[in-house]
Amino acid sequence: MAHPTDPNCIFCKIVAGTIPCFRLHDDAQTIAFMDINPANEGHALSVAKGHWPTVHDIPADVLGAVAQTAQRVSKAVHKTLNPEGINLIQANGPGAAQSVPHLHIHVLPRWKTDNLAINWHPSPGDMAKIKALHERILANMG
Ligand code: 5GP
Ligand code: ZN
Repeated sequence: MAHPTDPNCIFCKIVAGTIPCFRLHDDAQTIAFMDINPANEGHALSVAKGHWPTVHDIPADVLGAVAQTAQRVSKAVHKTLNPEGINLIQANGPGAAQSVPHLHIHVLPRWKTDNLAINWHPSPGDMAKIKALHERILANMG
């Protein structure tokens, strides 16, 4: 089946083969390759072949395929680098710092000392506020 594409999208160009990549995986629905601006050594991306900008646009089965590819890549990265941890990160929209509006999951090896600014420090929340938001989100679960 044909995927939606955007001729101006960098990841669509990689999927089409008009821009090169360091490919790790390729199947009918997904592609994975090394990130060329790595946040850490071994940073890779699992990418949908079709041009769907966010988790809200992409068909659920394709999102599942992107997650499976991220798992495959993550296992290989773990085996290769043995990092202290790996974050799977997926950004939607400018407030989440998404820079390429074509759905992808980052496979990001982590070390305790890497000081990457994607961590926050958990502290106990206001249970009444959490409960109220739980009710509002639950009502929109569909
Ligand atoms: P986002 O900010 O959308 O979550 O992540 C986009 C990622 O794509 C960034 O980590 C960026 O380094 C990577 N990226 C942008 N352009 C290219 C490219 O041409 N090739 C590769 N391999 N990665 C890219
Ligand atoms: Zn695209």
